[in-house]
Amino acid sequence: MRTAIYPGSFDPITNGHLDVIHRATKLFDHVIVAVATNEAKHPLFSIEERTRMVERAVGHLEHVQADAFEGLLVKYVERRGAQAVIRGLRAVSDFEFEFQLALMNRKLNERIETIFMMPKDAYTFLSSRLVKEIAQLGGDVSPFVPPHVKAALGRKLRLGQPQS
Ligand code: ADP
Repeated sequence: MRTAIYPGSFDPITNGHLDVIHRATKLFDHVIVAVATNEAKHPLFSIEERTRMVERAVGHLEHVQADAFEGLLVKYVERRGAQAVIRGLRAVSDFEFEFQLALMNRKLNERIETIFMMPKDAYTFLSSRLVKEIAQLGGDVSPFVPPHVKAALGRKLRLGQPQS
């Protein structure tokens, strides 16, 4: 059984993340989307909210599971009996940090491989940070996130739907 962990902040999960998850399910028997606590990043959504949003977004995918974790990623990967870490690469700008992270994780545990997946080109510009900014400024995020994430952003930012 080949298991991969897809770690990230998922603050919130976007269609770009979901594209990567779909691709990963073609390569692995089981994909665990692992939401990192990441308090240092001052996330908009709590770890519970982020995990619940992932859970709902992947609910229809049989071999995909949502989980939350804290601490060292390589230890979590071992604990879950996984063989690989999935990361998404959008552009060259992602590369340097991701390269450093992958090599550091290999140093910490050389049995774990990092696999990079590129999303559909329509999602290469998409990030959780931009989605939050657009929502904050009253823009429509429906092309970028599942409907329940859009609703959660509206509630969180007290914007919701414009009054008619
Ligand atoms: P992190 O805090 O780990 O960067 P993110 O939730 O922002 O968490 O991203 C998790 C992973 O998903 C990272 O590898 C990131 O590069 C990737 N990712 C984020 N957005 C996209 C996207 N639109 N297309 C492909 N990969 C993405």
